[in-house]
Amino acid sequence: MPSLPIRYTLHSPHPAAHRFTVTCTVTDPAPAGQKFALPAWIPGSYLIRDFARHIVAIRAEAGNKSVRLEKLNKHSWRAAAVKPGLALTVTCEIYAWDLSVRTAHIDQTHAFFNGTSVFLRVLGQESSPCLVELQRPPGKEFAAWRVATALSPATGEKGAARRHGFGLYRAENYDELIDHPVEMGTFTLLEFEACGVPHEVAITGQHDCDGERLITDLKRICERQIRFFGEPAPMSRYVFLVTAVGEGHGGLEHRASTALLCSRNDLPYAGMRGMPEGYRNFLGLCSHEYFHTWNVKRIKPMAFSPYDLERENYTTQLWAFEGITSYYDDLALLRSGVIGVPDWLELIGATISNVWRTPGRLRQTLAESSFDAWSKFYRPDENTPNAVVSYYAKGALAALALDLTLRYGTHGKTSLDDVMRALWQRFGQTGTGVGDDDLRQIAEELSGLKLGRFFANTLHDTRDIPLERLLAPFGVRLTREKAKIPALGARIGSDGESVKLTTVYDDGPAQQAGLSAGDILIALDGLRVTPKTLDTLLARKQPGNSITVHAFRRDELMKFDLTLGANDNTTARLRQTPAPNALRRAWLGE
Ligand code: ZN
Repeated sequence: MPSLPIRYTLHSPHPAAHRFTVTCTVTDPAPAGQKFALPAWIPGSYLIRDFARHIVAIRAEAGNKSVRLEKLNKHSWRAAAVKPGLALTVTCEIYAWDLSVRTAHIDQTHAFFNGTSVFLRVLGQESSPCLVELQRPPGKEFAAWRVATALSPATGEKGAARRHGFGLYRAENYDELIDHPVEMGTFTLLEFEACGVPHEVAITGQHDCDGERLITDLKRICERQIRFFGEPAPMSRYVFLVTAVGEGHGGLEHRASTALLCSRNDLPYAGMRGMPEGYRNFLGLCSHEYFHTWNVKRIKPMAFSPYDLERENYTTQLWAFEGITSYYDDLALLRSGVIGVPDWLELIGATISNVWRTPGRLRQTLAESSFDAWSKFYRPDENTPNAVVSYYAKGALAALALDLTLRYGTHGKTSLDDVMRALWQRFGQTGTGVGDDDLRQIAEELSGLKLGRFFANTLHDTRDIPLERLLAPFGVRLTREKAKIPALGARIGSDGESVKLTTVYDDGPAQQAGLSAGDILIALDGLRVTPKTLDTLLARKQPGNSITVHAFRRDELMKFDLTLGANDNTTARLRQTPAPNALRRAWLGE
């Protein structure tokens, strides 16, 4: 017998109060008492967030009578047994005032939510189909609101939603239900097709986006990626949910959509020329999340097959899912012709510089960074640069190195592209989780190369990836430019008009002098220092010079004797050597 659907309703009687009222009705609750739970985290963002802490009220009822609900732990409940034949409804009021791609947000201007923040999981019935009724808030001011989501309207059911309308939507199971974020409001809607698949862009927030320019560029990027993995695309439609704000940058991937947060000034405007950096970054973000449609939403590590929504899901492979995706996001901009080779080399150079300037790369391996994402990368503090390497940035360099190694070792016959397509065919299309050694095995099988040492050095060792040597045969020269001014040995931020040390590097001049992260610099050699004057003051000194530093720690003025060091803030520069060779042509398509 097919299982009966779980029915949800989502409503907000008063959006300005930032609350959703969500019901969950189970037709055949467990006879001994039905358990419910809200996820502790959202797939794609590897931090325990305990979404249930935003539930401000919860109650259960059956046959118009209230049912006892026992709280079992921070995010789960058990309803008492109900008479056979009675449906059980749990109603939650959920506070939603976090404007991020990970949670939920509602006010009188719009509503956005991820299912992980609002839809209770019915334990034991996770594979049941789900029906969700999205209700328009009451009042004329909401009459123009529409709905943007990759959830499918429940066509054929009474009350089924029309396209972009309120009403009934459906998901095949709970896993799908929480993988389609929803935007409701008066967003700008752009539409285009990529390889025959309908795509939408819904832009929320004040903006002056040149929609024509955006969909022209996005279409090229999406088509490039669909053709990369092979038609047909795995999704029948795709939605970019974009929230434009003053300052912000973030994205979260889903199986047929993505939620993006960007600065409105990063969006293209009418009459804009060329490719400003902000827009290039925005397209890179779109490209990144779109590549995840294959790499992590369908090609998944074993640890995510299925997700355990109650606790951390440890894997040493995040570098492959985030790093390889980070490598291909900008490469797709290049290969689709949206940017040129000099722009692309600049982006790779920025990633290399970023890794070189992170001393934590010498403390933590890529495999460790992946495994500890939950407690380290996602919980940064003042010591993070000393202790942690980003599996995004160094992971992208590992992907670049693997691509170059394969291309060079096979005279251009095999590349990371072939490995990704094999992963898609063998794991993504079959729904099999990727084991820790599968990537190496596929790369070795396709290339005929022995890659044990490459993977050991790149993933399980902290040595720098020898990119100079790997890039040279491709006619790309990588050089290191050292900063000229001497160094304090700290990352510098500002605190109003003051200079604040945000990180003090291990064993650097500032640490040896006794300075700490959080210290506010007041004066160097008796002269007031501000964020504007710091470099000017330092530029007049040499490494080895001693200076007196006055700084506040909390409210206490302290004096330090500091010996300036050589600046090891290195900038990576990538240049093409004049004549393109066959290897570079095959790689960058010149
Ligand atoms: Zn990502």
